[in-house]
Parts: sequence; C-alpha cells; structure tokens
Amino acid sequence: MMDYLNLARQLLGWYDCRRRELPWRTETDPYRIWVSEVMLQQTRVEAVIPYYHNFLRRFPDMRSLAEATPEELLSAWQGLGYYSRARNLQQGVREVLAHYGGNLPDSRDEIGALSGIGPYTAGAILSIAYNKAEPAVDGNVLRVFSRLLHIEELVERAPVRRRIEAVVREMMAGTPRCGDITQALMELGALVCIPRNPRCGECPWQGVCIASQRSDQALLPRRKAAEPPRKVAVFTGILLQGGRALAVRRPDRGLLAGMWEFPSVETLDSPAATLDAADLLCARFRELGQEVSVQAEWHSLTHVFSHRQWQMKTFRCRRRNPTGCDPAGDGHWLDREQIASMNWAGPHRKIAAWVRSELEQEMREKGL
Ligand code: SF4
Repeated sequence: MMDYLNLARQLLGWYDCRRRELPWRTETDPYRIWVSEVMLQQTRVEAVIPYYHNFLRRFPDMRSLAEATPEELLSAWQGLGYYSRARNLQQGVREVLAHYGGNLPDSRDEIGALSGIGPYTAGAILSIAYNKAEPAVDGNVLRVFSRLLHIEELVERAPVRRRIEAVVREMMAGTPRCGDITQALMELGALVCIPRNPRCGECPWQGVCIASQRSDQALLPRRKAAEPPRKVAVFTGILLQGGRALAVRRPDRGLLAGMWEFPSVETLDSPAATLDAADLLCARFRELGQEVSVQAEWHSLTHVFSHRQWQMKTFRCRRRNPTGCDPAGDGHWLDREQIASMNWAGPHRKIAAWVRSELEQEMREKGL
C-alpha cells in the first residue's frame, strides 16, 4: 500500500521546481481555464499557446464568445483541429449564461452536464479553478499510474479509471493544493513519464514506482489495439471561371463542420471508385448548378484524421453550360483574396494554395 500523502508531497515538490511557465498556469478565471483545457485536448502545449492568447484577445469573456458568429469562431480556431471542440465550448458558454448567470458551476453534476465537458475536463476545471478534490484523469495520467502501481489490466477499462481516480482523490485529500496536483500530474506525464523511454531518473516517484523497479515501464500501460484509420477516397473538382473558383461550405455538423472546401465527393476506398470519379464529380457539380467535364487528375494527397484517412485526388473541371454560371445550392465563387481568407477544411487549405497560384498564373498570362 502506497503512502498517498507522501506521493502528493513528492509530486508537488517536483512540480514547484520543474514546472513550465505556461500562460494558463497563473489563471484563476474559470472561463479562461476552461478554454485552455478544451484547447489542450489532443493538442500539444506549444501549439496551443498562440491560439490561447489570440482566442482570449478576441473573446475575453463568456459573453463575447457566446455572441461570436460561426465564421469568427472558426477563424479563431482554424489550424488547431477538431473544430467541434470550439462549437461545443461556445454552446457550453451559452448554457452557463442562460442557466447560471454567467458563473461556471462548481459541482461535478452541473458542470458535467454542460456541452463539451466530459469527466476529464470537469475534473480539471473543478480542481484548478475551484481547488476541489476532483480528479482529472486523461491518457497521460492513466499512463503514469499504470506504471507507478503496475496495473496490468487494459487502461481503458472503467474499474482501472475508477481506481486511479480514487488514488488521485486520496492525494488531493491531504493537501490544500488540489489544482496543483492536477497540473503536476499533467506535467509529469508530459515531461517525464512519457510514452517511450520515460525519464525515470528525473521522476519524483522513482523510489516507489513498481514498473521502474521491475524495469518493464515499456510494457505499460496496456491498451486495446487501435483500429487503423478507415480509408476514404475523396474526389475533388476544381472549377475556375473569370478569376474565381467554385467552393462550398461544409454542413454545420460532423467532420470539419462549417469549414470551406472545393466541391468533393467521398466514397469508400475501392479500386472501382477511381473509375467513378468523373461521374460522381459531374453529379456533385450539377447540384451546384454547373454542367462540367472532368479533366485529367491534377494533384493527389493524403490526409490522416484520428479515425479516417482521406486519399484525395483533385481534378480540373471545365464548364459545359456556356451561359449563366450562378452557383446553385451552397456553391460560391471565390476570388483570390477570398480564397486566401477562408477557413479551409483540413487538406483543402493546401488545395486552396494551389488554386491561388493557378489563378495568379492565369492573370499573368492575360497580362492583368
Ligand atoms: Fe514513470 Fe519512471 Fe516515474 Fe515510474 S519512475 S512514474 S515509469 S517516470
């Protein structure tokens, strides 16, 4: 049986000497801590810092975020990925304004019922903003404790998580620094007890860590084998007209919601699918009021999301309907400046750069 109070003391001692100075570390405003926690999900600290500053400059309080348009929200988040986090954050903020007068609640039940706040984020906000003895257990913390306590079960299992949460609660119970325990665990997982080659020589728990004593840290944590990302063939059509390109905004729900893309069709990957590209793209352009012929393949690229892999082929297209090119449905003609300023969905940003240079070349050829 480990001495949890001593574990807490050792951890906090290490944290006080070794922690990084991060902008949210000095924050006491629950809204700002909430923003940082949402941004840090599945994203590296270094990548988050500039977004965090910029986001809070644009939306310094809940009211300003609640009133932001989808375009404003997207532009503050673009490049950080997993845009649904931003939409959920905004929805959660609106709920706090509507039901709690703008004060983020400090009970697990109430905060956990808000949009976009799962058990980890609830624990992080409650411990850091309100100094409550509420654990925040994410993949990093699971890794640290699976090694410290030598847990050989799959860490995704609920009893394992509950056991680790109970240990963190015990550690918090013996100190007035609950928020620092949460941050110190995150820091330990990020800097020392890292997935490969943990730096046990720098760890405050080396003397008591069972995995370190047995030298089998590399075997822990045990996880279910990850499913490989599902391959999806994506055909994208590029239609240029009078110095502009046709583009559409993706639906408000689902992957890359609300972001811009060039007209595309997704199909399950199969050899036959490539043969269908022209038919599929012609049908997609018809929905946008354009009769086109599909030219030879232009560029190809691959983009990997967490659960799917887009294998993209882009095709230049030519208009066949000679008169009237007003787009129908959700299509829009964008000029070079607009293309440069739009929030492009993942790999479409790269395609947008290609399209811009194509339009520039066209202008040069016409002597414009
Ligand atoms: Fe992780 Fe090594 Fe520390 Fe154990 S001693 S918790 S394996 S860094």
